[in-house]
Amino acid sequence: MKTKRIAKHNRTIGWTIAALALTALTGGCKREIPPPTIMIVTPAEGEVLRADGELTFTVQAVEGVLEAVEVMVNDDPVQFPALELKTFGRFRVPLPVRELGPGEHRISVTARAVDDELRSSAAVGRGFDVELPPTALIDVELVPERVEQGRFFSVDLTFDGPVAEASGAVFERGFPFYLVEESLGEGGWGERWRAVAACRLYAEPGGNTLTVDYSDPYGNGGSESYTLEVTRGDFESYYIQLSPDVESKLDPAIIERESAYTKEVVGRYSPEQLWEPGGFVRPVPGRITSPFGQQRTYSTGGSSSHIGVDLKAADGEPVVAAARGRVVIAQEMIVRGGFVCIDHGRGLFSLYNHLSRLDVAEGQMVEAGERIGLAGSTGVVTGPHLHFEVRLTTWAVDPLALIENPPAYE
Ligand SMILES: [Zn+2]
Repeated sequence: MKTKRIAKHNRTIGWTIAALALTALTGGCKREIPPPTIMIVTPAEGEVLRADGELTFTVQAVEGVLEAVEVMVNDDPVQFPALELKTFGRFRVPLPVRELGPGEHRISVTARAVDDELRSSAAVGRGFDVELPPTALIDVELVPERVEQGRFFSVDLTFDGPVAEASGAVFERGFPFYLVEESLGEGGWGERWRAVAACRLYAEPGGNTLTVDYSDPYGNGGSESYTLEVTRGDFESYYIQLSPDVESKLDPAIIERESAYTKEVVGRYSPEQLWEPGGFVRPVPGRITSPFGQQRTYSTGGSSSHIGVDLKAADGEPVVAAARGRVVIAQEMIVRGGFVCIDHGRGLFSLYNHLSRLDVAEGQMVEAGERIGLAGSTGVVTGPHLHFEVRLTTWAVDPLALIENPPAYE
């Protein structure tokens, strides 16, 4: 055991002496191998790339063999397959312009050659520019093509490149678009964005202007205008005899205060979609006793449109959430009575009025079909029923049309 260790120790000393001798020898002669030569073929110095390009280059070991070749694009190393040691190499590295983005870029190629224990290296740099065409809006699809007053509609935008943000406006209300599909079209850079918007109940039948604004990630923007064809809703007329008791509650100041508060709440929505696709249910099973859009004239003079739907519901009958969402109002009001408002995200809200009991609190999440309270006859009513409203970008839309054919982002 002891003998063996001594022998090994002696051999280590032997190697060290040999290495020192070699260093002394080469150092003394100042022998070096010449660095390898690197030639970048493409892109040319300062070249402007408008489509995917390629870095092509050759490396030649003047003496010895190539040991390593490295490429950096903007200080990010490009992965190479393992190199075989040889004296000459031709390399191709893709330059995907969309990934690089517009502006100046820099490539550096480093190569190292080895001959016995001697090494030398060389590095060559190259600058180039990327210019990208601005993303263009190539298709707009409105579903349905002609929209009825008080109904929702969807707008699909198809772009030929990436989009950072898109928004629309119609009937004095803005609405955001959301990315629904990517990797479209040539090169896989196209995208589809969608918005669901409301056709105002009081919209003028005929052509209405809808504008779309968008910007791409490179700082370019675009704006387009379209004509939204609006058709007149088939709304019934109705004369309402008001009792002095009800009339006293119809103080314009109180109505205005309640409606301003509701409008403010439904103007601040969750940008994410909280409702489940297709997951809309009727809040009570009862029949319609007063339809959406009904044109009302009052015995006291004046007129209004019914911006919700009245559903038959007995005092104390359970009322459920029409879809998944967050309760944003759960309060007693003068006109609306026991009142719950649920934010379903992306500008969509459902509102439940005249409840005799509230079973939810503001801030609470509720699922479609979950009980939120009991029907009743609180507020300004002539008898127990559920006045059910749906708002989209603050405008009232037909609640039952929404339940029968809910909007989809997926
Ligand atoms: Zn009503």
